[in-house]
Amino acid sequence: MGVCPSARMAMLRDNFTGLLRLWDRPDVLTCTSWGAPIIWDGTFDPAVAQQEALQQNLTIGLTVFAVGRYLEKYLARFLETAEQHFMVGQRVVYYVFTELPAAVPRVALGPGRGLRVERVVRERRWQDVSMQRMRTLHEALHGRLGREAHFVFCMDVDQHFRSSFGPEALAESVAQLHAWHYHRPRWLLPYERDARSAAAVAPGEGDFYYHAAVFGGSVAALRGLTGHCARALQRDRERGLEARWHDESHLNKFFWLHKPAKVLSPEFCWSPDIGWRAEIRRPRLLWAPKEYALVRD
Ligand code: UDP
Ligand code: MN
Repeated sequence: MGVCPSARMAMLRDNFTGLLRLWDRPDVLTCTSWGAPIIWDGTFDPAVAQQEALQQNLTIGLTVFAVGRYLEKYLARFLETAEQHFMVGQRVVYYVFTELPAAVPRVALGPGRGLRVERVVRERRWQDVSMQRMRTLHEALHGRLGREAHFVFCMDVDQHFRSSFGPEALAESVAQLHAWHYHRPRWLLPYERDARSAAAVAPGEGDFYYHAAVFGGSVAALRGLTGHCARALQRDRERGLEARWHDESHLNKFFWLHKPAKVLSPEFCWSPDIGWRAEIRRPRLLWAPKEYALVRD
């Protein structure tokens, strides 16, 4: 499989053992057609990424929405495991968006890590809670979050960290390969196909199918992403349309038009329901079982 020129340069600069790592994963695709690295376990040196991030003195934001029953069901474990695994050693600020700030669990935070709670109104339909995230994030990125963070990851709450999710994942814009779709041929990917929708991806278009449970990037890039998606969602709503996978459909359209600078392998957000796969060495986030009857109205 191809080795990314950008990744090769970084490895050459770092050290020779780093260079050897590039051939550690001949079993998987490690570079996109536009030259972005697809990072798999073994293709990066976490210590080098950690050092580079420390030199830049970064603040990394992590946003998560916990509205309705998602709060009591998932938020505590998400935050507790993030304390163990998310950007450990870096300055981190969590942004929790909820309609019930008083119910946010008190999680002990490590040094250099803070948590802010932002109140949102509770949309009636779960689809609207999910879609409204783009507008809320867009506003937050133009407010305090945008001022205090350099890079931000935006995540679903119905998952927990299992192993290190560190600065190797940082880039100008970052997309997550969807665990259920990464090995499927392009024509089978569940893009929005209704040409009237702003999220429409025509047959023959699309690179990968990305998962909206994890995306990230610089504040500037994410302002662009969330603004695009919020406007596209609004346009569809005005026309009485709703894309097949809601905000995720629009995110996929955005990343088709604006290629991500880095792609995370499905190891970064894995569904245990898929079962064992040889190429999944070290899952970093694990999906919670889908208990829709419990959490959705
Ligand atoms: N969410 C929420 N309350 C809701 C619906 C959604 O807090 O009633 C948030 C939560 O962070 C959740 C995300 O929106 O993880 C996306 O929804 P969900 O995880 O149900 O979508 P799926 O991953 O099943 O597509
Ligand atoms: Mn989810």
